[in-house]
Amino acid sequence: MHIGILGAGQLGRMMAISGIPLGMRFTMYDRGADVPGAAVADIVTGAFDDLQRLRRFAQRVDLVTFDWENVPVASARAVAAIAPVRPSPRALAAGQDRVAEKRLFTRLGIPVAPWRPVEDRGDLARAIAALGVPGILKTRRLGYDGKGQARVRRATDADRAWQLVRGQPLVYERFVNFSREVSLVGARDRAGRTMFYPLAENLHVDGILAMTRAPCADARLQRGAESHLGRLMAALAYTGVLCVEFFVERGRLVANEMAPRVHNSGHWTIEGAETSQFENHLRAIAGLPLGSTRARGHSVMVNLIGRMPPRRSIAALPGVHLHDYGKSPRPGRKLGHLTYVGASRTVRDRLAIRLLRLAGAGTRSFRPMC
Ligand code: AMP
Repeated sequence: MHIGILGAGQLGRMMAISGIPLGMRFTMYDRGADVPGAAVADIVTGAFDDLQRLRRFAQRVDLVTFDWENVPVASARAVAAIAPVRPSPRALAAGQDRVAEKRLFTRLGIPVAPWRPVEDRGDLARAIAALGVPGILKTRRLGYDGKGQARVRRATDADRAWQLVRGQPLVYERFVNFSREVSLVGARDRAGRTMFYPLAENLHVDGILAMTRAPCADARLQRGAESHLGRLMAALAYTGVLCVEFFVERGRLVANEMAPRVHNSGHWTIEGAETSQFENHLRAIAGLPLGSTRARGHSVMVNLIGRMPPRRSIAALPGVHLHDYGKSPRPGRKLGHLTYVGASRTVRDRLAIRLLRLAGAGTRSFRPMC
């Protein structure tokens, strides 16, 4: 089977790495040829709104998926007229606008932080008056890794926050005083059968994911998150892997955002679960039965952001796996990740601290997990 992927970043690359042993081949579409996917797939270059080139790309493959959630919906629709697009353009659209996403969550009974749409400075003043501070002003579209966000710690921060992100539709959210952040990755096949990975606990630094540990053994949170994701998948008639990130506030799940694709907080599944999120995504979209999502042990995944630690120091750590995405270093850029699967939480956490240090990430926010 020949799979087309819109976007050729590290997610597409890891998808191809897991799909090649299944006999699949890959062609990816991206703006340039110097992309992580180039090591494992043919690359077609073009703009994401060049419908003619996109249609030609779609003609070459059996089905199309995406590794980037901001592919224009009109482009995904044009491709879908030629080859099946899974997840569907409708599911893609659901995650592109924070307001539409929050409305969908609310309609499905999935709690979200109090929020207001903000179009102008007056709206922001009213939102702050209604919801209070602290809060976060976010762009409705195209935000990722904490970009397009401004904190409003006190009411006098409003002007600075407005200047930082103005000029596009925004949303003001009340700041959630969370005890932890977790995410659930699930897969739904074409017949509507679902499988969920164990809940993972995430540590973000400056809005970017620094570390994920799994499983987060909390049966009540796991049940709640599975129920939320299951409803979301059913409402979107979803096919593929979906991730929802949650805050845990006073023991209760509050949804932050969804990603209609494989997710950074699911990278631990490559070594840490019986079937990786990448393989399960491919199985789902290709019409194969889903594989077991059971954890093999206690996993940690640490992102390598901005700079690569010396390869020699990584290789010297028994049981540690390096995933190098083949990107050139730039501050704030995800260049790779490390994983370790331990026999116990204690052993895993000991390694987690070493990996965070190796990655140059602070260990200040480190603490035992749920
Ligand atoms: P996002 O781009 O919305 O995923 O935000 C990135 C990170 O910023 C989250 O994972 C949180 O650590 C933090 N964050 C975003 N929104 C909120 C919020 N309403 N309350 C508290 N922290 C937040």
